[in-house]
Amino acid sequence: MSKIYISLGSNLGNKEQNLMGAIAAIGCEIGVVRRVSEFYASKPDGFVSENNFLNAALLVISDMEPLLVLRKLQQIEREMGRKPKSGNEYSDRIIDLDILLYDNEIINYPELKIPHPYMMERDFVLIPLREIAPELSIFKTA
Ligand code: AMP
Repeated sequence: MSKIYISLGSNLGNKEQNLMGAIAAIGCEIGVVRRVSEFYASKPDGFVSENNFLNAALLVISDMEPLLVLRKLQQIEREMGRKPKSGNEYSDRIIDLDILLYDNEIINYPELKIPHPYMMERDFVLIPLREIAPELSIFKTA
């Protein structure tokens, strides 16, 4: 069984309900949801919007391989009504699901990079992740 850390974000509609719906779907489709962070409000990063985000992090225990986890997350995003993004522009979204870490694996496929390439720059990812996994080596100070 692997430890998979997933980040969640929503800045449209009933954000709390969107996060809870995604957590339930992840529990059905991917594995056992072992830890869930608090929900944290954050300002949009990388694009301009009046709609603030609600973010969370999860620890999921599963033996599903990483690419299949990505496909399941994308399927959940679509089923929840996420619109395909146009080009490389970031925009408002009902739900955004990213794989942050998959055990200690380093993955560099075209469509899947783990650890998530931007996680270390994003407080809205690191703050919930540190809440549920303070033991991770990325949080140990020298
Ligand atoms: P976004 O939904 O805007 O965060 O971007 C999704 C895109 O990032 C998809 O095309 C994925 O294939 C790609 N991607 C690369 N690495 C990851 C990852 N670790 N978790 C989720 N999506 C990823």
